[in-house]
Amino acid sequence: YFNSNTVLYLNGKFEKAADTTADIYGQSLHYGYAVFEGIRAYSTHNGTRIFKVKEHYERLKRSAELVNMPFHWNINDLIKQTYKLLELNNLKNAYIRPLIYCAPNMSLVAGTKTSIMICAWEWGAYLGHEQLKVCISSYERPNPKSTAIEAKVSGNYVNSILATTEAKNKGFDEALLLDMNQNIAEGPGANIFIEKNGRLYTPPPGHILPGITRATIIELCQILDIELIEKHLTVKDIKHADSAFFCGTASEIAGIASVDEYTFPVKWVDSLGATLQRTYKCLVLEKQNYEVII
Ligand code: PMP
Repeated sequence: YFNSNTVLYLNGKFEKAADTTADIYGQSLHYGYAVFEGIRAYSTHNGTRIFKVKEHYERLKRSAELVNMPFHWNINDLIKQTYKLLELNNLKNAYIRPLIYCAPNMSLVAGTKTSIMICAWEWGAYLGHEQLKVCISSYERPNPKSTAIEAKVSGNYVNSILATTEAKNKGFDEALLLDMNQNIAEGPGANIFIEKNGRLYTPPPGHILPGITRATIIELCQILDIELIEKHLTVKDIKHADSAFFCGTASEIAGIASVDEYTFPVKWVDSLGATLQRTYKCLVLEKQNYEVII
């Protein structure tokens, strides 16, 4: 992810990544008590543009607040520094990773001294270009009463790592996790949509990370006049669906070929997902509303 010249942003300063150290006694490292974001920048006709950058930093702030972590940064300034970071690293198409973590503290009392680090790297298609073979995970998404499920908390991603590793070990590309009520929740790092009889369905908020890509797709459905229904979906629903896809900042829109033994009958190119994939690409490359004043 970095070479000897890579620069990252740390608490108001740009530093060489190779010279940066993290604290071994950090509460974030030991207990997963950190919040983060995943953002993408695209090389567009108007130069490098960070897609939905404000929404991502607002979610970072919300994530911090949901876990009682002080967030004392100005979002417009963070956006400005992120553009600078891309420039300093000569990145045009990039994945950006802001992380807020706590100073050394071995107790279980929420640390009050927080740091912000932002790094970025060139990253292609996260889930590849082929349609994915997916399995229903034996791991469930965490109970929303046991953690801040709507916050992008580092510790929550142990669940994602377990599910992804299990899926890969079984020969699948990706996992699909149910919630505690046995409804479809989401992938380890992406939301899910299914298509049935010309309509799209996606699980409502409650047991999922409210994805920014998910919100973008809901907006695109309105523009494209695609009927979109937010409702709880069962394994039976997905195994009777016409097509399905994952969506997320890293994975963008990734078509799903099969779930367990069930193969979707509609070819990806003919699916609503493929139409949305083409439109999403246009949006991130050319037509986004870029409103941030630098
Ligand atoms: N769910 C989970 C668990 C995720 O980690 C992500 C990636 N942030 C998403 C959904 C998709 O969110 P977004 O579209 O905001 O990247």
